[in-house]
Amino acid sequence: MIDFNNVSKTYGEDVKALVNVNLHIDAGEFVFVVGASGAGKSTFLKMIMREEVPTSGEIVINGQNLNTMKARKVPYYRRKLGIVFQDFRLIPSKTVFENVAFAMHVIGASQKEISRRVAYALSLVGLSHKAKSYPKQLSGGEQQRVALARALVNDAELIIADEPTGNIDPEMSKDIVDLLDQINQNKKTTIIMVTHEVGLISRYNKRIVTIRNGSVVSDTARPDLVPDEAVEPAPANAPSGYYYMPSEDAEIEEFLQTYGMKRGPEAGPDAASAETPAE
Ligand code: ADP
Repeated sequence: MIDFNNVSKTYGEDVKALVNVNLHIDAGEFVFVVGASGAGKSTFLKMIMREEVPTSGEIVINGQNLNTMKARKVPYYRRKLGIVFQDFRLIPSKTVFENVAFAMHVIGASQKEISRRVAYALSLVGLSHKAKSYPKQLSGGEQQRVALARALVNDAELIIADEPTGNIDPEMSKDIVDLLDQINQNKKTTIIMVTHEVGLISRYNKRIVTIRNGSVVSDTARPDLVPDEAVEPAPANAPSGYYYMPSEDAEIEEFLQTYGMKRGPEAGPDAASAETPAE
């Protein structure tokens, strides 16, 4: 599913964010990625999302070489990813249902399909009864469950969760990881979750990859073998690594761009036929 072959990433002249990373993740795996602040975790995720390309080495995901992927193919590639952020990234003026439906609108799904799949995704995260609520009427944990439903609704093959429990209380955090675990087990979705929370990773029997100074220094299923520095808490109010969206409008725009769509009628349910990427 995911292959990093000798991948290095240097920003500018000399900031070595990743150094000779070799990593294989099978389809259906659930992997925690841990490491101190600045270790290279966000860079690792950005590479998988094809937001950054390696300075050297090769990344192959589902048989697709991300190094050589054409720019116009990137949005279509990203449609297969479900991404969950620390700060939820819900659109405040839309209801829970509309937030989840939005991810389907932008890829041109039909109304019928949208109604069916959004209802299903909300039931999976236990929020069917909140479909008409607005994000601000929900707790942090509930908002993250909506974000998870949005990540799931297009049948993602791979879910990338970047500190998904960073802004919610510990009780709710466990619910979120339990949900990811269920999705992983029931739907065989591959899951990569970056976290700082040692309490969380030690509750699960999962593969834990530790990054230090851009290198993978530990890859184990035993939480007791995870190096200490990997699990220190993130600084309070640490900005989330990417896609910062300052206003609702910018947020919508950014989201559409991620899916290769522009705002306007072409983003509506009738756009399906225009959606097939040219070879
Ligand atoms: P983490 O997510 O583990 O905190 P990052 O991948 O964000 O680590 O950062 C790894 C290193 O790369 C750090 O030294 C960071 O300052 C640097 N870095 C990250 N993004 C950029 C960028 N766009 N330009 C220059 N340096 C960067």
